[in-house]
Amino acid sequence: MRLFKEIKSLQNFLQNERKKSSTIGFVPTMGALHQGHISLIKKSMAENPISVCSIFVNPSQFNNAEDLANYPRTIEEDIKKLVESGCPVLFLPHEKELFPKNEKLLDADFGLFTESFEGKFRPGHFSGMISVVKKFFDIILPDHSYFGQKDFQQCMVVKELIKKYALPVRLHICPIVREPDGLAKSSRNARLTPEERNTAVIIPQILFSIKETFHQIPTEDLISSSLRKLTAHSPMVKVDYLEVIDADTFKPTNRDTKTKAVAMIAAWCGNIRLIDNMILTD
Ligand code: AMP
Repeated sequence: MRLFKEIKSLQNFLQNERKKSSTIGFVPTMGALHQGHISLIKKSMAENPISVCSIFVNPSQFNNAEDLANYPRTIEEDIKKLVESGCPVLFLPHEKELFPKNEKLLDADFGLFTESFEGKFRPGHFSGMISVVKKFFDIILPDHSYFGQKDFQQCMVVKELIKKYALPVRLHICPIVREPDGLAKSSRNARLTPEERNTAVIIPQILFSIKETFHQIPTEDLISSSLRKLTAHSPMVKVDYLEVIDADTFKPTNRDTKTKAVAMIAAWCGNIRLIDNMILTD
């Protein structure tokens, strides 16, 4: 695996690769890699002769200093996992080179896609996220980019970013990889205590049960009974949001919909905030 820390050296390498008429696939991550990340890298590798994985814990997308300080950083293990997966290129940029001092972040102004859910609960998050993603797109010039449905709202915001700047990159949204008990794999899972980890399984359980009964029960009732189940499960659970929306517009929707509906959830299990979602109309 080739490892690049400087923008210019990565660009020189990719320029040569592009001459061989290779397409470039790109998977941005914040490290603490797990099977969810590796699934994106494998998909990129299957579809492109050259794939670049980036690892960068982007301070500007954290609205909470404690969350940033505690975010797991496991670079040695990450490198091992990437080598094992066969990933050809790792980009490990320096923060100072990526974000020179006083640089302004991009405005994240995409209506409901940036105002609702994570936009509401994590002010500034999407502005930081799109600023770094746009930067990576401009540096790497990937033909294809791979994001996880795990961060469904992020995918929709990146879709809007690509549209706004007419970026020549295709967005691929890849399925959520889950633990055997259904919990979505996440770098933050490593920070759950055993008790919090046991509690967290209620999140996918609720999503699966919403999916199962989506067409039978009025959506409002389904949401209120799910909220009751979540809070009754453990005093550790605090729900930031649980809603059913139209996947393409982010407007509230219900069981009569003819379009794609998705259930979105964010909940705290003790000190750790987890997000998950599920398409209900497959
Ligand atoms: P992160 O390192 O959390 O910023 O995630 C990097 C990429 O991996 C994002 O596109 C995430 O949506 C994706 N990802 C994270 N967890 C999963 C998962 N469990 N399954 C699939 N993709 C995931």
